[in-house]
Amino acid sequence: MNTSSTPIAGRCTLVGAGPGDPELLTVKAVKAIQAATVLLVDDLVSEEILAYARPDARIVHVGKRGGCKSTPQAFIERLMITAVREGETVVRLKGGDPFIFGRGGEEVEHLREAGIECAVVNGITAGLAAVTSLGVPLTHRDHAQGVVFVTGHAKTGAGAQEDPTDWRALAAMAHNARLTLVIYMGVAGARHIERELLYGLSGDTPVAVVQHATLPHQRHIATTLDGLQARIAEAGLASPAVIVVGDVLRGLAAAALPADADRFGT
Ligand code: SAH
Repeated sequence: MNTSSTPIAGRCTLVGAGPGDPELLTVKAVKAIQAATVLLVDDLVSEEILAYARPDARIVHVGKRGGCKSTPQAFIERLMITAVREGETVVRLKGGDPFIFGRGGEEVEHLREAGIECAVVNGITAGLAAVTSLGVPLTHRDHAQGVVFVTGHAKTGAGAQEDPTDWRALAAMAHNARLTLVIYMGVAGARHIERELLYGLSGDTPVAVVQHATLPHQRHIATTLDGLQARIAEAGLASPAVIVVGDVLRGLAAAALPADADRFGT
């Protein structure tokens, strides 16, 4: 429903830029980027991807690196709405997949409230690419019957609990239903996550942490659940990284031979 009297002139597309490697963009994403007159770009989107944009396109960096700490979400949405009403072809470029964390869902809702329907182009989500980059399948008949993508940094503040993720319940479920856990935004809270997951999973459950997945400077560690926080600290891993927990990783540490140590960061 268009609640505004202003007619909608332009178009808006939320585009998943994938985990980092420009070759992991979809053809649809490249076409949308090439058609855009205005691009609103998140931090985790690499410059090589922006090379697909038209030379006269207006590129606005709205992530933390753009200037101040981080552009407020409401401001980004206002920019999108204004540009669409001015007749621009707007692309909102988001890391990974637009609908896996990263607030893509909220953006679509808020634009809809302003009478603007956004198209959405999937991207390869970081958790998927990170695990594949290690040569590990997220599911494998012998080890896992499913996978859970979960945030380690759930919404806090008014109306939300401090830590709404019930890690103990998740651990029990992962154990009983044989699920792989892929934890986004979890590195800063790894100590807490490790402690809580140990209520339902054994200390020798394989764990990997992958930073900058699919980029030339990718690093990872392979360890066990009871060594998660210690190994993250030792290796100095930080955001952006995903933590992967589950038996699909069995054999990864053994496979990382000394000759691979640099490449794998182990
Ligand atoms: N929509 C994105 C996720 C946004 S939340 C997606 O689908 O991938 C941001 C988090 O994603 C980061 O904190 C990190 O946990 C993860 N992430 C994004 N890019 C990553 C990368 N190249 N390597 C590892 N983790 C990444």
